[in-house]
Amino acid sequence: MFASLAGRTVIVTGASKGIGRGIAKRFAEVGCKVVVVARSHDAAKMVAEDIAVAGGRAIGVTADISTEAGVHAMAEAAMLHFGAIDILCANAGIFTSARIADMTAADFDETMGINLRGTFLSVKACLPALGVSGRGRIVLTSSITGPVTGMSGWSHYGASKAGQLGFLRSAALELAPAGITINAVMPGNIVTEGLLALGPDYLTAMAASIPVKRLGSVEDIANAALFFATEEAGFVTGQTLIVDGGQVLPESLAAME
Ligand code: NAP
Repeated sequence: MFASLAGRTVIVTGASKGIGRGIAKRFAEVGCKVVVVARSHDAAKMVAEDIAVAGGRAIGVTADISTEAGVHAMAEAAMLHFGAIDILCANAGIFTSARIADMTAADFDETMGINLRGTFLSVKACLPALGVSGRGRIVLTSSITGPVTGMSGWSHYGASKAGQLGFLRSAALELAPAGITINAVMPGNIVTEGLLALGPDYLTAMAASIPVKRLGSVEDIANAALFFATEEAGFVTGQTLIVDGGQVLPESLAAME
């Protein structure tokens, strides 16, 4: 079994719902102190309260991680309340759809600003604290879309998610001397509020294209994030883990038969 993570402080960005909420709850279950970050104050607070009701420790923090002020407020709140940042799960992201012919520069910038710039800003703001223990952990939520697959309407999103992995590989080298690891989970299609908003046709088509014949759960992703955060994963850095029920595997429809 893995050594306990009890008592470590984890910041989870985009934790008011979806995958981030799943990650926050999973880390709380193993005894971590959780900083639940989102732009929506009430939603972040509610997740923190749910964790407390279940016997865990958490605070809700309102921050826009695409801004320097936002990430500094987030890191400061963690230090103020828990005195440490041991783990950063940089998960916040948006996936609004726009085909290239209709996409505005503002659409592109918004997606890159939250998904990619927000990843960089979150990591940078937490670095001083993450280096203190000599075993800091950073886990990014990337995607299969961009690094592995493509999808009409998500070119900006795919670029941001592939960009996270480019960032990750150089970051791993820079952070290794401080004992900080950085890895990424690459989810397939996971049932979240964000995914449900894409509509029933999208969900039905996606479930049919997944070899294990179901969409993923937030717990599927949270468990992968938890592994990267363990003591035992200390020799793993700059790496990715696809968690997609086999979705990227088939070469053709015939391969699914
Ligand atoms: P979701 O249900 O829409 O939740 C997104 C979370 O991010 C919310 O808590 C949202 O809260 C927060 N957020 C968005 N922009 C933010 C900002 N600027 N600053 C701080 N928080 C922000 O999305 P999800 O499906 O859980 O996706 C989470 C991550 O997984 C994303 O990075 C996404 O790209 C990735 N992913 C998801 C899937 C999937 O199938 N669901 C697949 C592959 C990858 P506020 O709006 O209140 O800020």
